[in-house]
Amino acid sequence: MGIAVSPIQIDSNASDFISKPRKMLIDGKWVNAASGKTFPTYNPATGEVLAQVAEGDRADIDLAVQAARRAFDSGPWSRLTPSERGKLVWKLADLLEEHIEEFATLETLDNGKPLTVARAADVPLAVDMFRYMAGWATKLEGTTIPISVPYTPGAQYHAYTLREPVGVVGQIIPWNFPLLMAAWKLGPALASGCTVVLKPAEQTPLSALRLGELIMEAGFPDGVVNVVPGYGETAGAALAAHDQVDKIAFTGSTEVGKLIVHAAAGNLKKVSLELGGKSPNVVFKDADLDTAIAGAASAIFFNHGQCCCAGSRLYVERPVFDQVVEGLSAKAKKINVGPGLDPTTHMGPLVSEEQLQRVCNYLEIGMAEGAKATSGGRKIGGKGYFVEPTVLVDTKDYMKVVQEEIFGPVVAAIPFDSPEELLPRANDTVYGLAAGIWTKDISKAHRLAASLRAGTVWINCYNIFDASLPFGGYKQSGWGREMGKDVLELYTQTKAVCARL
Ligand code: ADP
Repeated sequence: MGIAVSPIQIDSNASDFISKPRKMLIDGKWVNAASGKTFPTYNPATGEVLAQVAEGDRADIDLAVQAARRAFDSGPWSRLTPSERGKLVWKLADLLEEHIEEFATLETLDNGKPLTVARAADVPLAVDMFRYMAGWATKLEGTTIPISVPYTPGAQYHAYTLREPVGVVGQIIPWNFPLLMAAWKLGPALASGCTVVLKPAEQTPLSALRLGELIMEAGFPDGVVNVVPGYGETAGAALAAHDQVDKIAFTGSTEVGKLIVHAAAGNLKKVSLELGGKSPNVVFKDADLDTAIAGAASAIFFNHGQCCCAGSRLYVERPVFDQVVEGLSAKAKKINVGPGLDPTTHMGPLVSEEQLQRVCNYLEIGMAEGAKATSGGRKIGGKGYFVEPTVLVDTKDYMKVVQEEIFGPVVAAIPFDSPEELLPRANDTVYGLAAGIWTKDISKAHRLAASLRAGTVWINCYNIFDASLPFGGYKQSGWGREMGKDVLELYTQTKAVCARL
């Protein structure tokens, strides 16, 4: 089977944007790389080059960090009131909202995801994140603390805390939700008064670069946000190691997260990490099975399984195992796989040739180890990086397809016999990002939610995200939380001030 590609009219602003080589944003100016080098970004639906982008490296990162440093230490940004800061972030949300179609198109072209999804989810969620964080700019408060100081009897003090921005933040983001990940990172940094050097993923730099234009249009002072595209091993590594950076915020693989921690050790910069997952999604026999089957499909196939929280281990209580697998496989077979721009497409291509290779390798290893596909299981031939939505059965808990993050539309369906037997198996992973539970027994659901070692547990739903809901990992799925008020802890630090009266 191949993918038929028909010519589709695309948003004219998006096609204008990709028609020119794209520069990087440093200190409020659009500039070429110091080396003059560029790199291609590809359309995963065709494998063709979409645009050439300035290739940032150590020298560009250094210039960007210096600009962010100046903006933080002495620029007009440092003198803005919280209300003025919040207003700028809100203005950015408004501008982004005015360009939904253009951003959705850039995401689809660069990442491959269906335009219908980018339009309904990626861009509106990014707008909402900026609005939510804009509101926080005026609400980051310290406290007054009545202190006792037993070794100065009779003395009186006035003690209070200030909540201050951590400073210059390096932000390294992945390719699965390019714009949304930029918003998750920039929103809290800007609301708190930090300045930023943002490095988008090399596979998907376009929406972050266009966002950089809107940031300047909104009126952020020069150097507050710098956007430096480039490769992870060069630009990313230079940012993580830079000694003038106060904090690094990273979203990506656990493997690279560990490299970031090493790189950050030089100046002990603060580190927050949102990493991989191998999330258990548990269906009990008393669940509303139609809803659970639809939920299990969306848990793994949404964004082509390229979600760190994908429900990639589907545990099903034995009496309903066959029924759930059958229902899920039927749904998988009905998914229209095609170019993201086609309005009938449910699932687009994987992001890159490398990612396609990785997913296909896992499928081969899984089959060689004895797993069977009840739907899918293969690459789709022809142009572009397409793979079939796949349901695997007959797996064993020790197999790679059950233990390792595939980051593709591949779920292992596994029977279980009781909650007691299930729990250690569900928790038997180095990851701890998310989990799902499907049951009508609300007490059972909450008991299990308390025992699962995961940063998010969804009950009778999956992939529910909100700007106000903290998201992040237990165990090797990360350090700290994104979103909600929790994330602001990671962009601010507390100063205790004590005055003798
Ligand atoms: P994936 O394997 O899914 O591409 P990665 O974790 O490699 O995910 O990439 C996420 C982000 O991390 C990207 O922006 C990438 O460029 C960056 N990155 C990759 N390697 C490094 C590194 N050694 N140091 C810093 N950033 C890196």
